[in-house]
Amino acid sequence: MGREGGLVVDYTTLRAVAECSTKAAMGSVLALQSRAERLPLDAGIGCHAALAQWLETGDVDEALQCLRDYYQPIWARASANGAVDERLAERLAYPVVEKVLRHWLTTWTRDGFPYTLEVPGMTEIAVTRDLGDGVTYVALIDAVVRSKVGGRWFLDWKTTGSLGPWWDQKQEDSGQFTGQRWAADSLGEVEGVVVGGIGLTRLNSSHAKCRDHGVPYKECALQHLSARVKTVTTTDAEIRAYAETVTHVVKKYRRIVRQVQSIDDVPAQPMEGRLNGACGFCDYRGWCRMGRPTAARIVDKAFEARRWDPLAEAQARRVRSGKADA
Ligand code: SF4
Ligand SMILES: [Zn+2]
Repeated sequence: MGREGGLVVDYTTLRAVAECSTKAAMGSVLALQSRAERLPLDAGIGCHAALAQWLETGDVDEALQCLRDYYQPIWARASANGAVDERLAERLAYPVVEKVLRHWLTTWTRDGFPYTLEVPGMTEIAVTRDLGDGVTYVALIDAVVRSKVGGRWFLDWKTTGSLGPWWDQKQEDSGQFTGQRWAADSLGEVEGVVVGGIGLTRLNSSHAKCRDHGVPYKECALQHLSARVKTVTTTDAEIRAYAETVTHVVKKYRRIVRQVQSIDDVPAQPMEGRLNGACGFCDYRGWCRMGRPTAARIVDKAFEARRWDPLAEAQARRVRSGKADA
Protein backbone atom coordinates (compact mmCIF):
# COMPACT_ATOMS: atom_id res chain seq x y z
CA MET A 1 0.00 0.00 0.00
CA GLY A 2 1.77 3.14 -1.18
CA ARG A 3 1.62 6.55 0.42
CA GLU A 4 3.77 9.12 -1.34
CA GLY A 5 5.97 6.27 -2.50
CA GLY A 6 6.24 4.77 0.98
CA LEU A 7 4.71 1.68 2.46
CA VAL A 8 2.02 1.88 5.15
CA VAL A 9 1.57 -1.34 7.08
CA ASP A 10 -0.61 -2.37 9.98
CA TYR A 11 -1.39 -5.54 11.89
CA THR A 12 -4.07 -6.67 9.41
CA THR A 13 -1.74 -6.32 6.43
CA LEU A 14 1.22 -7.99 8.11
CA ARG A 15 -0.90 -10.84 9.39
CA ALA A 16 -2.00 -11.56 5.81
CA VAL A 17 1.61 -11.33 4.61
CA ALA A 18 2.80 -13.69 7.34
CA GLU A 19 0.03 -16.17 6.56
CA CYS A 20 0.18 -16.35 2.79
CA SER A 21 1.74 -14.45 -0.12
CA THR A 22 -1.32 -15.08 -2.31
CA LYS A 23 -3.62 -13.66 0.36
CA ALA A 24 -1.47 -10.56 0.81
CA ALA A 25 -1.19 -10.06 -2.96
CA MET A 26 -4.97 -10.19 -3.35
CA GLY A 27 -6.06 -8.26 -0.27
CA SER A 28 -3.24 -5.83 0.44
CA VAL A 29 -1.44 -5.22 -2.85
CA LEU A 30 -4.38 -5.42 -5.28
CA ALA A 31 -7.00 -4.46 -2.66
CA LEU A 32 -9.46 -7.09 -3.92
CA GLN A 33 -11.93 -7.97 -1.19
CA SER A 34 -14.39 -10.81 -1.29
CA ARG A 35 -17.93 -9.56 -1.92
CA ALA A 36 -19.33 -12.30 0.33
CA GLU A 37 -17.17 -11.26 3.31
CA ARG A 38 -18.06 -7.61 3.11
CA LEU A 39 -21.08 -7.79 5.39
CA PRO A 40 -19.36 -8.92 8.63
CA LEU A 41 -16.77 -6.21 8.07
CA ASP A 42 -19.42 -3.53 7.60
CA ALA A 43 -21.48 -4.72 10.56
CA GLY A 44 -18.30 -4.40 12.65
CA ILE A 45 -17.58 -0.89 11.33
CA GLY A 46 -21.14 0.21 12.17
CA CYS A 47 -20.88 -1.25 15.68
CA HIS A 48 -17.54 0.51 16.25
CA ALA A 49 -19.09 3.87 15.38
CA ALA A 50 -21.96 3.20 17.78
CA LEU A 51 -19.68 2.04 20.60
CA ALA A 52 -17.45 5.11 20.26
CA GLN A 53 -20.50 7.35 20.51
CA TRP A 54 -21.79 5.40 23.51
CA LEU A 55 -18.49 5.83 25.34
CA GLU A 56 -18.69 9.56 24.71
CA THR A 57 -22.26 10.27 25.80
CA GLY A 58 -23.79 7.07 27.18
CA ASP A 59 -26.90 7.75 25.10
CA VAL A 60 -28.02 4.43 23.60
CA ASP A 61 -30.35 5.89 20.95
CA GLU A 62 -27.71 8.34 19.78
CA ALA A 63 -25.19 5.50 19.58
CA LEU A 64 -27.53 3.26 17.63
CA GLN A 65 -28.19 6.10 15.21
CA CYS A 66 -24.49 5.85 14.21
CA LEU A 67 -25.00 2.15 13.48
CA ARG A 68 -28.18 2.87 11.53
CA ASP A 69 -26.62 5.66 9.44
CA TYR A 70 -23.75 3.47 8.36
CA TYR A 71 -25.02 -0.09 8.28
CA GLN A 72 -28.73 0.00 7.45
CA PRO A 73 -28.25 1.20 3.82
CA ILE A 74 -25.47 -1.36 3.30
CA TRP A 75 -27.66 -4.16 4.63
CA ALA A 76 -30.65 -2.98 2.56
CA ARG A 77 -28.58 -2.99 -0.64
CA ALA A 78 -26.96 -6.36 0.06
CA SER A 79 -30.24 -8.09 0.92
CA ALA A 80 -32.11 -6.51 -2.02
CA ASN A 81 -29.69 -7.85 -4.60
CA GLY A 82 -29.68 -11.33 -3.06
CA ALA A 83 -25.97 -11.21 -2.25
CA VAL A 84 -26.44 -12.54 1.28
CA ASP A 85 -26.83 -16.19 2.09
CA GLU A 86 -29.43 -17.20 4.64
CA ARG A 87 -26.97 -18.25 7.34
CA LEU A 88 -25.25 -14.86 7.25
CA ALA A 89 -28.57 -13.00 7.13
CA GLU A 90 -29.69 -14.66 10.38
CA ARG A 91 -26.76 -13.04 12.21
CA LEU A 92 -26.10 -9.88 10.26
CA ALA A 93 -29.47 -8.54 9.17
CA TYR A 94 -29.56 -4.93 10.33
CA PRO A 95 -32.46 -5.46 12.79
CA VAL A 96 -30.57 -8.37 14.43
CA VAL A 97 -27.34 -6.38 14.81
CA GLU A 98 -29.26 -3.42 16.22
CA LYS A 99 -31.10 -5.62 18.70
CA VAL A 100 -27.90 -7.29 19.89
CA LEU A 101 -26.07 -4.00 20.31
CA ARG A 102 -29.01 -2.35 22.04
CA HIS A 103 -29.10 -5.29 24.44
CA TRP A 104 -25.46 -4.87 25.47
CA LEU A 105 -25.48 -1.10 25.67
CA THR A 106 -28.51 -1.15 27.94
CA THR A 107 -27.26 -4.14 29.96
CA TRP A 108 -23.82 -2.68 30.60
CA THR A 109 -24.94 0.96 30.75
CA ARG A 110 -22.11 3.43 30.47
CA ASP A 111 -22.18 4.12 34.21
CA GLY A 112 -22.02 0.41 34.99
CA PHE A 113 -19.29 -0.38 32.47
CA PRO A 114 -15.98 -0.85 34.34
CA TYR A 115 -14.03 1.47 32.03
CA THR A 116 -14.60 5.08 31.23
CA LEU A 117 -13.07 7.42 28.65
CA GLU A 118 -9.96 9.07 30.04
CA VAL A 119 -10.92 12.37 28.48
CA PRO A 120 -13.76 13.16 26.07
CA GLY A 121 -12.73 12.63 22.48
CA MET A 122 -10.08 9.97 23.22
CA THR A 123 -11.58 7.54 20.71
CA GLU A 124 -10.64 6.42 17.20
CA ILE A 125 -6.97 7.29 17.45
CA ALA A 126 -4.37 6.38 14.81
CA VAL A 127 -0.78 6.09 16.04
CA THR A 128 2.21 5.57 13.76
CA ARG A 129 5.75 4.30 14.10
CA ASP A 130 8.38 5.10 11.50
CA LEU A 131 10.22 1.88 10.61
CA GLY A 132 12.73 3.59 8.31
CA ASP A 133 13.19 3.12 4.56
CA GLY A 134 9.80 4.71 3.87
CA VAL A 135 7.82 2.19 5.94
CA THR A 136 5.23 3.38 8.47
CA TYR A 137 3.47 1.09 10.92
CA VAL A 138 -0.04 2.22 11.86
CA ALA A 139 -2.16 1.04 14.77
CA LEU A 140 -5.76 2.07 15.39
CA ILE A 141 -6.84 2.44 18.99
CA ASP A 142 -10.57 2.48 19.65
CA ALA A 143 -10.29 4.41 22.92
CA VAL A 144 -8.04 5.34 25.83
CA VAL A 145 -9.90 4.51 29.04
CA ARG A 146 -9.49 4.42 32.80
CA SER A 147 -10.51 1.41 34.79
CA LYS A 148 -12.92 2.33 37.57
CA VAL A 149 -10.68 0.34 39.93
CA GLY A 150 -7.57 2.17 38.68
CA GLY A 151 -5.18 2.04 35.76
CA ARG A 152 -5.07 3.36 32.25
CA TRP A 153 -5.84 1.06 29.31
CA PHE A 154 -6.42 1.01 25.59
CA LEU A 155 -9.86 -0.31 24.71
CA ASP A 156 -10.55 -2.39 21.63
CA TRP A 157 -13.98 -3.54 20.49
CA LYS A 158 -14.39 -6.84 18.66
CA THR A 159 -17.54 -8.07 17.00
CA THR A 160 -17.38 -11.75 16.24
CA GLY A 161 -19.48 -14.71 15.23
CA SER A 162 -18.41 -16.71 18.25
CA LEU A 163 -16.86 -16.07 21.67
CA GLY A 164 -15.80 -19.64 22.38
CA PRO A 165 -13.12 -20.59 24.93
CA TRP A 166 -10.40 -20.05 22.30
CA TRP A 167 -11.39 -16.39 21.98
CA ASP A 168 -9.57 -15.34 25.17
CA GLN A 169 -6.37 -17.02 24.09
CA LYS A 170 -6.59 -15.53 20.64
CA GLN A 171 -6.74 -12.03 22.16
CA GLU A 172 -3.77 -12.73 24.45
CA ASP A 173 -1.65 -13.88 21.51
CA SER A 174 -2.77 -11.21 19.06
CA GLY A 175 -0.02 -9.04 17.59
CA GLN A 176 -2.66 -6.36 17.15
CA PHE A 177 -2.45 -5.45 20.84
CA THR A 178 1.31 -5.88 21.09
CA GLY A 179 1.53 -3.59 18.05
CA GLN A 180 -0.70 -0.99 19.70
CA ARG A 181 1.58 -0.86 22.75
CA TRP A 182 4.67 -0.70 20.52
CA ALA A 183 3.39 2.07 18.24
CA ALA A 184 1.67 4.20 20.84
CA ASP A 185 4.57 5.62 22.90
CA SER A 186 3.12 9.07 22.28
CA LEU A 187 -0.04 8.18 24.20
CA GLY A 188 1.86 7.41 27.44
CA GLU A 189 2.00 4.34 29.67
CA VAL A 190 -0.90 1.91 29.82
CA GLU A 191 -1.46 -1.31 31.75
CA GLY A 192 -2.49 -3.12 28.58
CA VAL A 193 -5.51 -3.50 26.33
CA VAL A 194 -9.10 -4.18 27.36
CA VAL A 195 -10.91 -6.13 24.69
CA GLY A 196 -14.68 -5.82 24.56
CA GLY A 197 -16.03 -8.76 22.57
CA ILE A 198 -19.62 -8.77 21.34
CA GLY A 199 -21.01 -11.94 19.80
CA LEU A 200 -23.00 -11.11 16.67
CA THR A 201 -24.95 -14.35 16.63
CA ARG A 202 -28.36 -15.33 15.34
CA LEU A 203 -31.26 -14.76 17.69
CA ASN A 204 -33.03 -18.02 18.42
CA SER A 205 -36.54 -17.84 16.95
CA SER A 206 -37.60 -21.34 17.97
CA HIS A 207 -40.97 -21.91 19.64
CA ALA A 208 -39.49 -24.79 21.65
CA LYS A 209 -39.32 -24.21 25.38
CA CYS A 210 -35.98 -23.20 26.88
CA ARG A 211 -34.99 -25.35 29.87
CA ASP A 212 -33.18 -22.50 31.58
CA HIS A 213 -35.83 -19.82 31.29
CA GLY A 214 -39.05 -21.86 30.95
CA VAL A 215 -40.30 -19.78 27.99
CA PRO A 216 -40.07 -20.32 24.20
CA TYR A 217 -36.52 -19.61 22.98
CA LYS A 218 -37.74 -16.73 20.87
CA GLU A 219 -38.64 -14.90 24.09
CA CYS A 220 -35.34 -15.43 25.90
CA ALA A 221 -33.07 -15.23 22.85
CA LEU A 222 -31.36 -12.07 24.07
CA GLN A 223 -30.48 -13.71 27.37
CA HIS A 224 -28.47 -16.32 25.49
CA LEU A 225 -26.23 -13.76 23.84
CA SER A 226 -22.64 -13.57 24.91
CA ALA A 227 -20.16 -10.75 25.39
CA ARG A 228 -16.73 -10.65 27.05
CA VAL A 229 -14.60 -7.94 28.51
CA LYS A 230 -11.06 -9.20 28.77
CA THR A 231 -7.77 -7.55 29.73
CA VAL A 232 -4.63 -8.36 27.77
CA THR A 233 -1.20 -7.43 29.13
CA THR A 234 2.04 -7.72 27.17
CA THR A 235 5.61 -8.12 28.45
CA ASP A 236 8.49 -5.98 27.19
CA ALA A 237 10.05 -9.14 25.74
CA GLU A 238 6.89 -9.78 23.71
CA ILE A 239 6.95 -6.22 22.39
CA ARG A 240 10.64 -6.55 21.36
CA ALA A 241 9.92 -9.85 19.62
CA TYR A 242 6.95 -8.30 17.82
CA ALA A 243 9.14 -5.45 16.54
CA GLU A 244 11.69 -7.93 15.19
CA THR A 245 8.98 -10.04 13.59
CA VAL A 246 7.50 -6.97 11.90
CA THR A 247 10.91 -6.15 10.34
CA HIS A 248 11.09 -9.67 8.97
CA VAL A 249 7.54 -9.68 7.59
CA VAL A 250 7.89 -6.20 6.04
CA LYS A 251 10.77 -7.59 3.93
CA LYS A 252 8.44 -10.27 2.63
CA TYR A 253 5.76 -7.66 1.92
CA ARG A 254 8.24 -5.56 -0.09
CA ARG A 255 8.98 -8.62 -2.21
CA ILE A 256 5.27 -9.21 -2.88
CA VAL A 257 4.64 -5.53 -3.69
CA ARG A 258 7.56 -5.63 -6.15
CA GLN A 259 6.35 -8.78 -7.88
CA VAL A 260 2.61 -8.15 -8.06
CA GLN A 261 1.30 -5.42 -10.33
CA SER A 262 -1.90 -7.07 -11.51
CA ILE A 263 -4.03 -10.17 -10.96
CA ASP A 264 -2.00 -11.94 -13.65
CA ASP A 265 1.00 -11.89 -11.30
CA VAL A 266 -0.79 -13.61 -8.41
CA PRO A 267 -0.67 -17.26 -9.55
CA ALA A 268 3.13 -17.09 -9.41
CA GLN A 269 2.98 -16.26 -5.69
CA PRO A 270 3.43 -18.99 -3.06
CA MET A 271 0.39 -20.41 -1.25
CA GLU A 272 1.78 -20.77 2.27
CA GLY A 273 -1.78 -21.06 3.57
CA ARG A 274 -1.77 -24.60 2.24
CA LEU A 275 0.95 -25.44 4.77
CA ASN A 276 -0.03 -23.42 7.81
CA GLY A 277 -3.79 -23.92 8.05
CA ALA A 278 -4.75 -20.36 7.08
CA CYS A 279 -6.97 -21.44 4.16
CA GLY A 280 -9.94 -22.51 6.26
CA PHE A 281 -10.74 -18.95 7.33
CA CYS A 282 -9.50 -17.22 4.19
CA ASP A 283 -11.72 -15.04 1.99
CA TYR A 284 -9.91 -16.29 -1.11
CA ARG A 285 -10.43 -19.97 -0.40
CA GLY A 286 -13.01 -20.59 -3.14
CA TRP A 287 -10.88 -18.79 -5.71
CA CYS A 288 -7.76 -20.70 -4.72
CA ARG A 289 -9.71 -23.98 -4.94
CA MET A 290 -10.59 -23.05 -8.53
CA GLY A 291 -6.88 -22.76 -9.32
CA ARG A 292 -6.58 -18.96 -8.93
CA PRO A 293 -8.23 -18.04 -12.28
CA THR A 294 -7.42 -14.54 -13.52
CA ALA A 295 -10.24 -14.04 -16.07
CA ALA A 296 -12.01 -10.73 -15.37
CA ARG A 297 -15.49 -12.27 -15.46
CA ILE A 298 -14.59 -14.56 -12.53
CA VAL A 299 -12.51 -12.08 -10.55
CA ASP A 300 -15.06 -9.23 -10.88
CA LYS A 301 -17.88 -11.46 -9.76
CA ALA A 302 -16.12 -12.65 -6.63
CA PHE A 303 -14.21 -9.54 -5.57
CA GLU A 304 -14.49 -5.79 -5.43
CA ALA A 305 -11.73 -3.23 -5.15
CA ARG A 306 -11.68 -1.95 -1.60
CA ARG A 307 -8.44 -0.63 -0.24
CA TRP A 308 -7.79 -0.91 3.48
CA ASP A 309 -6.03 2.30 4.46
CA PRO A 310 -5.66 2.43 8.25
CA LEU A 311 -5.02 6.18 8.37
CA ALA A 312 -8.07 6.93 6.21
CA GLU A 313 -10.05 4.45 8.29
CA ALA A 314 -9.23 6.28 11.54
CA GLN A 315 -10.44 9.54 10.01
CA ALA A 316 -13.59 7.87 8.63
CA ARG A 317 -14.35 6.42 12.07
CA ARG A 318 -14.20 9.86 13.59
CA VAL A 319 -16.74 11.04 11.01
CA ARG A 320 -19.05 8.05 11.60
CA SER A 321 -19.10 8.63 15.34
CA GLY A 322 -19.89 12.29 14.76
CA LYS A 323 -16.63 13.90 15.80
CA ALA A 324 -14.68 14.73 12.69
CA ASP A 325 -11.83 17.19 13.03
CA ALA A 326 -12.81 18.92 9.81
S1 SF4 B 1 -7.03 -19.86 0.51
FE1 SF4 B 1 -5.05 -20.47 1.36
S2 SF4 B 1 -3.62 -20.38 -0.35
FE2 SF4 B 1 -5.44 -19.22 -0.95
S3 SF4 B 1 -4.99 -17.10 -0.39
FE3 SF4 B 1 -6.07 -18.03 1.31
S4 SF4 B 1 -4.49 -18.77 2.68
FE4 SF4 B 1 -3.53 -18.43 0.69
ZN1 LIG C 1 -33.56 -19.29 27.52
